[in-house]
Amino acid sequence: MPPMTSQEKNTKARVVAIVGRPNVGKSAVFNRIAGKRVAIVHDESGVTRDRLMREVDWQGQRFSLIDTGGVMVLNKQTEKNPIEAGIRAQVDAALGDAAVAILVVDVQQGIHPLDEEVARIVRKAGVPCVLAVNKCDLLQHDASAEEFARLGFPLFPVAAQHNRGFGELMEVVLPHLPPATNETLEKPLRVAVVGRPNAGKSSYINRLLRTDRVIVSDIAGTTRDSIDVPFTIGSGPQARHYTLVDTAGMRHKHRIDNAVERFSLFRAEESVKEADVVVLVLDPDLGPTVQDKHIAALIQENKKGCVILMNKWDLAMEKGMTQTQAEPLLRKIMPFMSFCPILFVSATEGLNIRKSVEVIDAVAAQTRVTLPTGMLNRTLIEATHRVVAPAKAGKRLRVYYAVQIRVAPITIRMFVNDPKLATKQYTDFMTRALRERFGLEGAPVVILYRARTRPETGARAESTQAGRAVKSAKNAKSAESAEKAAEEAAEAAADAMFDMAYD
Ligand code: GDP
Repeated sequence: MPPMTSQEKNTKARVVAIVGRPNVGKSAVFNRIAGKRVAIVHDESGVTRDRLMREVDWQGQRFSLIDTGGVMVLNKQTEKNPIEAGIRAQVDAALGDAAVAILVVDVQQGIHPLDEEVARIVRKAGVPCVLAVNKCDLLQHDASAEEFARLGFPLFPVAAQHNRGFGELMEVVLPHLPPATNETLEKPLRVAVVGRPNAGKSSYINRLLRTDRVIVSDIAGTTRDSIDVPFTIGSGPQARHYTLVDTAGMRHKHRIDNAVERFSLFRAEESVKEADVVVLVLDPDLGPTVQDKHIAALIQENKKGCVILMNKWDLAMEKGMTQTQAEPLLRKIMPFMSFCPILFVSATEGLNIRKSVEVIDAVAAQTRVTLPTGMLNRTLIEATHRVVAPAKAGKRLRVYYAVQIRVAPITIRMFVNDPKLATKQYTDFMTRALRERFGLEGAPVVILYRARTRPETGARAESTQAGRAVKSAKNAKSAESAEKAAEEAAEAAADAMFDMAYD
């Protein structure tokens, strides 16, 4: 086993293990829960695929999820006593780290002796356990699920294929996790402060660190040459942690010449790459210079959340400049940053400094938004009706479904007849439609196209479900139930594509 990463060590206590005999749908359950994934912490899937661990964010709750899928494959030869040979070791290993276990069983197969065996191992390990009675595709299955009460754990009917029942299941699972430490609850937000020399980056950071309730944990050294400044606002469970990446100070060391210019751009690039949110500091007097545009392009290329600070606003105001004048001008010069909030601040006078943190927080939250599948699809389908889709050689682009496959940056995968037909213009239009509907201020949106391929068996079943939902939408008596059924139809349709999207 590779050595544990520090991240893994931190999250070790907040671990949920998925256990169960083969073929009950553990992987599907895993994918449903890990769907809103943060990052792959650790993937040991090799020949044996003996353990898969992923950091998960379930409605703001972070934890690690372990899957012990494929354990039986190891034991094909020793079929007579598979438990003794391997399953026990696997389940034990998973349970060793876990605060709570989800035991997956298959309602359509009924209780299997191996289910009882795994239940016994879990009980012996003293790990709290919740039963996910999988494959409850239909209401009548829920009644059969009761049979599993015999295993002695609270049970929840779910259907991983149809994303059914997971809210209720997780509601019972999550309270078993130990309270999150600061690190696991919320990794510090990495905020890179960039801008050309003299824009006021240092002044802004210094002012920010002197603001009420800001607690600076540590300032490494006095040279302040592109360093990380960790700070916290508030205390206790309400505390918000930040790491400011300060790229200022370079110009104090060197005269600006080409080499240094290149160097400082390189430093800016590095800090932008690692940031969650980038703060671009501009000086209205000179503003936006070629160098500012370079930096803005960096932010755009790296698809980072961004806040624009128009600094030295005290001087601008003295000159009679107003925000209503300045803002459109700025938007015009940097049209590709048009979705980023602009805040007028004065680092030396302390104007809007506190507010800037709120805006940074808001942008950070926007980059991590999960758009509800039904609404996402309706928004995009509506948008397709507003413009003529691009065409080449008589073939016109057709959009079927969309699913969000990632946050930070928000990434939408659109299933279309032929991705080659998509144009930048069309993508920009779709992105605007999403912004109109969902806001997403300061958060970049990425749209990827994929050719729709033939649905697989599971997907086909879901398509059938989608068909049924559409039918019930048509037959619905009230507008409200029609809307609900339509939403279900869109979700089921998007679900049908879900597994293909997560390749
Ligand atoms: P950096 O190179 O981007 O870190 O810029 P500094 O923070 O060193 O600021 C450059 C100069 O601009 C300094 O002389 C600051 O005092 C001045 N400055 C920074 N912010 C403001 C502001 O909001 N208003 C005014 N009037 N001067 C500012």
